[in-house]
Amino acid sequence: MNFVSTRGNVSKIGFIDTVLMGLANDGGLLVPEKIPQISAEKLESMSKLSYQELAFEIFSYYVNGEIPEAELKTLIEKSYATFRSPEVTPVQKVKDNMYVLELFHGPTFAFKDIALQFLGNLYSYVSKKTGEPIHILGATSGDTGASAIEGVRGKEGIRICILHPHGKVSKVQELQMTTVDDPSVLNLAIQGTFDDGQRIIKELFADLDLKNKYHLRAINSINFVRILAQTVYYFYAYFHVKKERDLRSINFSVPTGNFGDVFAGYLAKKMGLPVGKLIVATNENNILEQFIQTGVYMPGVFQSTYSPSMDIQVASNFERYLYYLLDENPSEVTTLMEKFKTEGKIVVSEEQLRQVQLDFAAYGVEGGECLQTIRKYHAQTGYLLDPHTACGVAAYESCNEPDEVCVTLATAHPAKFNESIERCEIQQTFPEQISQLFNKQQHLEVVEAENEEIVYHVEKLFSFSAK
Ligand SMILES: *Cc1c(COP(=O)(O)O)cnc(C)c1O
Repeated sequence: MNFVSTRGNVSKIGFIDTVLMGLANDGGLLVPEKIPQISAEKLESMSKLSYQELAFEIFSYYVNGEIPEAELKTLIEKSYATFRSPEVTPVQKVKDNMYVLELFHGPTFAFKDIALQFLGNLYSYVSKKTGEPIHILGATSGDTGASAIEGVRGKEGIRICILHPHGKVSKVQELQMTTVDDPSVLNLAIQGTFDDGQRIIKELFADLDLKNKYHLRAINSINFVRILAQTVYYFYAYFHVKKERDLRSINFSVPTGNFGDVFAGYLAKKMGLPVGKLIVATNENNILEQFIQTGVYMPGVFQSTYSPSMDIQVASNFERYLYYLLDENPSEVTTLMEKFKTEGKIVVSEEQLRQVQLDFAAYGVEGGECLQTIRKYHAQTGYLLDPHTACGVAAYESCNEPDEVCVTLATAHPAKFNESIERCEIQQTFPEQISQLFNKQQHLEVVEAENEEIVYHVEKLFSFSAK
């Protein structure tokens, strides 16, 4: 298995080099040269595996022997041993044809832990093998930061710098990131939005001298491992529901920001999982919904919403989808991405739009509807949705046909977003790990959203162990 760039100007590389490269050196994103195909018989044989066994099977298609089997198994075991549920991602039936896939049982109570617990262990493994330091530079809309820090803290040879949008994350998200007292962890609160942070990160990674000098590594979903680890639970959920009922195919409703999680579902489908509709759920930052309805991808004006982890205008993984929509033609991707840079939008043809609408359904959820969905499900079923999951559930209600079965991805625990839950006049009890955060001291620096300022901090944090 080799990996290539969506823009075609990186020579083929293997799995570990793909992990280390993060953003492709030509500014594109790395994708598998050929998506592995899982036959119906093979799927059947995978249906009774535990989460960890399933992860091993799926990862093996991509890791391609670069990590010996026993070591890969150990990495997987270690990564999911920190989860509070033995099933890792349990599935709950909420209504007759609607299930939720609970992805929030990891250390920081959001789905990012599923990939980042593994990536943290993988980075540590690679650092030990190569003797090279791992210096992580990432941006977060709120959940990735805490999750990445939790995934690597205390691991030898690893330092981490995370940019988050100052004042635009929930209190619990901010506390989770900033209460870690460790000299190898730096939190920069930028005066700007997540899009500013993500743009800075991409620009710094594109500066290959800087990237190589400081051994910069990515934890955002530009890193293919994030996508890979997230494909596993689509399989897991399908197998779970299939045990309960006759199932030809299954829909997924996915709360979306950077298009990473839903792209993982798209990849699972391309590998052979019988997925019907992939429903893209957005909040008021609804560029992806607009694209799926009209074929025009055009970022608009940023809005702060009740679901801050989805407050994203420029979805970095969109380029991965574009690559497949354009029949894996890197020069067409390059042309469109360059046009996007100069004109601020991408427009696809009528024929391509038809394909987009075969691949995805979409629904944008406004704040009032989000809170109403939380209230309704709490009153009718006793299940408390977090505001991101509520967007997913509202999109399920809008896009799913009555005779179809749908799994909504529950991307975070409601305790992370009590600001929104309180607005629904619902009182929740915090898990112990969250309530204890409120007594801890915070460590962060507020900085301008300017490349030079970030580089200054990056050099300070990463230089003394860089050789
Ligand atoms: C990150 C995040 C999302 C969006 O996921 P993408 O992969 O960026 O589309 C949705 N919900 C929560 C709670 C998140 O943390």
